[in-house]
Amino acid sequence: MSHFALTGASPSNGYRGRFAPSPTGPLHFGSLVAAVGSYLDARANGGEWLVRIEDVDEPRTVPGAASGILRTLEDFGFEWDGEVVVQSRRLDLYHTALVALQLNGEVYPCACTRSEIAAATGKRSVDGGLLYPGSCRAGLGEGKAARAWRMRVPDQEFILDDRIQHQTRQNLEREVGDFVLLRADGQYAYQLAVVVDDAEQRVNAIVRGVDLLDSTVRQMWLQQRLGLPTPSYAHLPVVVNAAGEKLSKQTQATAVEPSADNALLMSAMRFLGQSVPSEMYGVSRADFWRWAISVWSIARVPAVQGICPAR
Ligand code: GLU
Repeated sequence: MSHFALTGASPSNGYRGRFAPSPTGPLHFGSLVAAVGSYLDARANGGEWLVRIEDVDEPRTVPGAASGILRTLEDFGFEWDGEVVVQSRRLDLYHTALVALQLNGEVYPCACTRSEIAAATGKRSVDGGLLYPGSCRAGLGEGKAARAWRMRVPDQEFILDDRIQHQTRQNLEREVGDFVLLRADGQYAYQLAVVVDDAEQRVNAIVRGVDLLDSTVRQMWLQQRLGLPTPSYAHLPVVVNAAGEKLSKQTQATAVEPSADNALLMSAMRFLGQSVPSEMYGVSRADFWRWAISVWSIARVPAVQGICPAR
């Protein structure tokens, strides 16, 4: 087993960051925190900040959610650079990347159903799913048809130098397994779309929720095999409830409703370890953002995975 260090810990020159919400529901406090953290870090570094709607997973997309999220961001006074990019209009880019990987033998067709994988492995992957045992690596079995395409991964330990969470280590083969890039239902996987889009949009500094930390090494591996640069990464703590569960639609996260005051933005900044004087409550949005950009310090963001906000 060899070791690999792939990413530098600080953003390079010409900072280009982004916020990439999935339109599976309205913006909730957890996604507001990711928006605030990525926005402030980009602007405090004199960088650009892009918005990308990640609707590549069509069955999970809720009609109207994308426009609702954009409206909410506008109401909070976020200003993004350039046009909003929408993944569902970029399927040809994901196709081209998959073909490149196919030509290089980096991916292989897989015929396994979920129950076949369950029968073949007792191991769990980092994200709680089943660790794919590599059954189709050497070719499809007799009479089997391809359902999905999987990325081959090496038995190697990768080291991610995260700007907030510090060093994370992951062995792709032992902890993740060969992962799906084109799903059995014909949908491109998030892992492929995010890597292609970040590179195509020249994003070089990623600030997002820590729930994606486990995905990062997969993304670094894809970047490497596609010959794409690896951005810097900063994974923010995520909002958890008192039971330690991530705030999401499943745990009844409520939509954030922007109001004229800055209460929610102040809460998001405090959640990220920044100290916010109460006078900021009533100032104009423009003044609030000017001040927030001037005081932002990523070093103050707690290097923990989940925080249950005080009520
Ligand atoms: N679309 C993902 C989400 O809303 C974020 C992906 C990313 O930032 O890489 O959770």
